[in-house]
Amino acid sequence: MALKSGAQYLEEMKAMRPNVYKYGKLIEDLTTDPITKAHLRQVAMWYDRSLDPEYEGIYTTTSHLTGEKAHRWNTIMMEMEDLVGNAKMKREQFRTVGQCPGPVCAGWAIMNALWSVTYDMDAEYGTDYHERLKNFAMFAEEKALAMAGAITDAKGSRGKTAGGQVDPDLYLHVKEKREDGIVLSGFKNMIVGTAGAQYVMVIPTAGMKEGEEAYAVAAAVPRDAEGLTIVEARSPSDERRDREEGWDAIYSGPSSAYLIFNDVFVPNEHVFMCGETKFSGKPIGNFATIYRACIGACVAGQGDVIVGATVAMARLNGLSMKAFNDKLVQMVINNETTYGMGLGAILEGKKHPSGAFYPNAKLAHANKVHVGTLPFETKRLAQEIGGGIVENGCMPSYDDFMSEEYGEKLLSSLQGADNTKPEDRIRMARLLEWLTIGTGVPGCMHGGGSPDTGRLVVRLTTKWDELVDLARNLAVVENPLREEKKK
Ligand SMILES: Cc1cc2nc3c(=O)[nH]c(=O)nc-3n(C[C@H](O)[C@H](O)[C@H](O)COP(=O)(O)OP(=O)(O)OC[C@H]3O[C@@H](n4cnc5c(N)ncnc54)[C@H](O)[C@@H]3O)c2cc1C
Repeated sequence: MALKSGAQYLEEMKAMRPNVYKYGKLIEDLTTDPITKAHLRQVAMWYDRSLDPEYEGIYTTTSHLTGEKAHRWNTIMMEMEDLVGNAKMKREQFRTVGQCPGPVCAGWAIMNALWSVTYDMDAEYGTDYHERLKNFAMFAEEKALAMAGAITDAKGSRGKTAGGQVDPDLYLHVKEKREDGIVLSGFKNMIVGTAGAQYVMVIPTAGMKEGEEAYAVAAAVPRDAEGLTIVEARSPSDERRDREEGWDAIYSGPSSAYLIFNDVFVPNEHVFMCGETKFSGKPIGNFATIYRACIGACVAGQGDVIVGATVAMARLNGLSMKAFNDKLVQMVINNETTYGMGLGAILEGKKHPSGAFYPNAKLAHANKVHVGTLPFETKRLAQEIGGGIVENGCMPSYDDFMSEEYGEKLLSSLQGADNTKPEDRIRMARLLEWLTIGTGVPGCMHGGGSPDTGRLVVRLTTKWDELVDLARNLAVVENPLREEKKK
């Protein structure tokens, strides 16, 4: 198959075993239920765009495994251009839906993160993980899979490691090893795009130490696997739109879920790490470089929509953008900073002997700190320019605007610029509210890991004494000015 349409994707999603819950109830059909349908419709759009010549090269690329055209999110990124393609696709996606594109991102990044790790493990232990991953990548490409990426364990007490928790399920682990596969137990929390996924890729959330072998596990699991229960956490605003059949909500649907693995069997061919603690921290390391280089494009793409909505809001309020030039320019600078820094991390990246290309760790992690900071400044400026109706809780409901008793008068109270309709001002305010403080806010703070882990990598990869020597040479100071190392 290699390439499929949105309609094919939705048909396949309908055929999967229902195992996604919300408000205590099982969602029978994810493609029609108001809680999930906007999200799936959005994923279907990425499939359709892959077939549309207008988007040639954005959503598809050439697979190095088959030489065939494939959905970009099913391929292994072997060259710098593949990572640039990742970033460009994300900016385009965020510009289109204003929020996270779902299961065409993290699962793909995990498959790529594991490429070099399985290669290195096989070299050290004589295992066949790389061959298994290669076969899975061919399968993912052939089936044109949508894949979520599950890294974040529940983690329990953050001051302790996996082996020291009161409940072993707080980290996903191998409960039983069988001849033909493994049995998984535990939780993965806050996994974006799970409702729209066909497979879930799992890796450890952190490196494991000796004695924690059961937690050093990487695998590919069908989203509807027996024993896997999924609880949808996010409530797309589309839900309300359906309920009200009105015009004051946003046509876009995020999804994030809690995954409960209760004795989920995974056959050996879909297991890519099982007990190799020495290598257990490497998948998250690679994942972070890919993700943190490219998330700069995500927040820039959303920022593009925020800038557009802010200018539109100012105009709907009867003001020209001249009144806000400095603020608007700063918003654009914030967008281009995270986008450009991500591209810089890719430009300084390196090819691993396995053939996979990874961005530069220091630059990618430094970008994460900007990604956890600048978009909030952009959102603050949007709120400042937009006015009170953009803030949460300052807009009447659609039903009130429709009231026979007072609706017309209420609507008139929201009249802005002379030649505009109050409805348009309300719609734009709703969009900005959603983008700046609503469910449209992407995971720029903790998505892809917390900024502090970025700071840690920057600290560890900086050769501090080399920098001191640069200064010593210029200042002509002979004293080496080294710190005594603690014993
Ligand atoms: C919108 C969104 C989308 C997401 N999507 C996904 C996804 O698709 N897949 C996925 O796997 N995960 C996903 N996540 C989860 C994300 O990876 C985690 O939120 C992130 O790794 C932080 O973990 P936490 O939320 O458990 O925070 P915590 O671990 O509770 O951290 C809270 C704070 O404490 C600090 N901290 C934690 N432990 C320590 C320690 N030992 N010492 C000092 N400081 C510490 C952290 O740096 C942070 O500042 C998503 C999150 C969000 C918000």
